[in-house]
Amino acid sequence: MKTAYKTAELNYSQLQSVRFTEKPLLVLAGAGSGKTRVITHKVSYLIENNYPPHKILAITFTKRAANEMKERVFKYTGVESRWISTFHSFCLKIVRSFVKFLNNGLKPDFIVYDEDEAFKLFKKVCKDNYFDQDQALNLFKRISYLKQHGEINDSVFQDYRELKIYKTYESALIQCNAVDFDNIQLFAYKLLANPEISNYFKYMFDYILIDEFQDTSPIQYSIVKSITKNGNITAVGDPQQSIYGFRGAVVDNILKFINEFNPKIIKLEENYRSCKVVLHVANTVSELIDEKWKSLVVKLKNTKTDEGTVKIALHEDEHSEALWILNNVKALTESFSLSQIAILVRARYIKPAIKEVFARAGILLDDVDDYDFFKRTEVRDVLSYLKFAYNPSDYVSFERAITTPPRRIGEKTLKQIAELNETDYLKATKVYANTAKGNKRDALLSFVRFIEYLQGFLNDPAQALNIVVKTTSYVDYLKEKFKDDCEDRFASIKELFVLLKRYKSLKDFIDDTLLYNGNRSERQAVKLMTVHTAKGLEFDAVFLPSLERGIFPDVRCEFDEEVRCFYVAVTRAKKYLFLSACKTRERFGSRQGSAPGKFFDYIKNAYI
Ligand code: ATP
Ligand code: MG
Repeated sequence: MKTAYKTAELNYSQLQSVRFTEKPLLVLAGAGSGKTRVITHKVSYLIENNYPPHKILAITFTKRAANEMKERVFKYTGVESRWISTFHSFCLKIVRSFVKFLNNGLKPDFIVYDEDEAFKLFKKVCKDNYFDQDQALNLFKRISYLKQHGEINDSVFQDYRELKIYKTYESALIQCNAVDFDNIQLFAYKLLANPEISNYFKYMFDYILIDEFQDTSPIQYSIVKSITKNGNITAVGDPQQSIYGFRGAVVDNILKFINEFNPKIIKLEENYRSCKVVLHVANTVSELIDEKWKSLVVKLKNTKTDEGTVKIALHEDEHSEALWILNNVKALTESFSLSQIAILVRARYIKPAIKEVFARAGILLDDVDDYDFFKRTEVRDVLSYLKFAYNPSDYVSFERAITTPPRRIGEKTLKQIAELNETDYLKATKVYANTAKGNKRDALLSFVRFIEYLQGFLNDPAQALNIVVKTTSYVDYLKEKFKDDCEDRFASIKELFVLLKRYKSLKDFIDDTLLYNGNRSERQAVKLMTVHTAKGLEFDAVFLPSLERGIFPDVRCEFDEEVRCFYVAVTRAKKYLFLSACKTRERFGSRQGSAPGKFFDYIKNAYI
């Protein structure tokens, strides 16, 4: 074993949280008080105190956080922790191991659809059943919400057409041998209702730790509860930072945890992240937070002696705002690296004006949300071939592969192939091709032959990718379709190749890279992202533009949730915080009057 976990790196309450294992523990504290640090050190502490590393489960919110934690634990203990993962990855492992007990037709080698793929299939189901396309997204979201609450069943649908869409979608997923993100969790939850399975996991884990507990959904809560043994659990969270209400997370989980687990509660009071004035803004914002949570939170005391800087500015329009950001960034680069500067927005439509100004000035700016690696068009394109070759029941990948690059195979043909009612679309295409004529027949048959050829390389996914790129002349297609940024897109294909090299099968690759965000986050560039993406992160300087009425706070959301969102945003900053708003703004194609929103005014009044 390497060095001991560093007691010197913890304050008294943190140390107490790390060492306390007698009964369930809930660590409640504001932003930047070292909650995540407690989890990391506690994993190391447990390992040193003879808990077998493979019997410790630590759950984090993002893949990046999980990787970071793994690295730290390795640094402290020299041990690789296998079970530091996100909820989704953990649930996927449960479903993979016990899929046959679901008895729903899902086969062990099933694949995972992300939200976009799932919605594609959902839209197809709606279309095939003449369900109003405009209503599709709403229904899709509602089903997702019900799944995350563990409340989905036939009787929740009042409208029989909606029930039909739901049922058809579920069977379409099974037919594709795929699960969507919500089903990963829902199925894990269902499996754990079987005492033999939950006992198996109870036996498997001696200790469970959860970060960002305020944002766990009801179904995640139940999953955790069903595998906790002898109260060996530590949850850390901050009620003031609950920002996933729309996704099914309810801060009430904290109250439920207190009632059902009767934990010891430790509060952390020191903030180690932010300089004095920044922290002062954070504490001012937290005064707006709903009374309900007041008893659960503590005001943060600063530990940094540096004053720090907060700037507030009102601009004519979004262009002058973007220029102001740019100029401040330039000044900051004298003392900070670009990647320590973040611009956090409430909504994506705020981004273009900022991106434009940075592009013109030649300062690297990474849109972190955009760089959701597996959502990139080029990555999806080439992977669709591999996925389809691996699982010919996967309709979504089939449709993408056969039409990208275009082979002159249209919607009508696809519909006719689908209507053959084969669960294997490769077979269906073959059957259909034999009834077709001329060019179409040739195109279809060459596609079939190519996929069959590719199937011979599935135990070498990187090689398979190479074959796809070459055979489909994918690079030429990229050059033609995306003149401006084909270089960048080609770089993602290369990144994918490097990633794939580590795997012997596509399935391992898919499971292991669930929620992977790409490695761009390490790049020396200013980071642009939504506040939701910035959860848990910290930067030397943070810009919060467009604090305007209707935008932030967002009119479409509950005010309480907006306050928490703003609190998360403000508390990402270590030294510099820049707040701004505009007087006019282009929206929906015309220039409109805008006005500072509540948060802008509130902070301004408190400071000037
Ligand atoms: P958030 O609520 O935003 O998730 P958090 O409570 O998880 O924040 P951490 O990210 O763990 O806080 O810690 C915030 C910063 O303070 C980090 O840079 C961390 O390294 C540092 N830190 C935490 N505890 C201490 C300590 N005892 N001494 C010095 N630095 C600390
Ligand atoms: Mg944290």
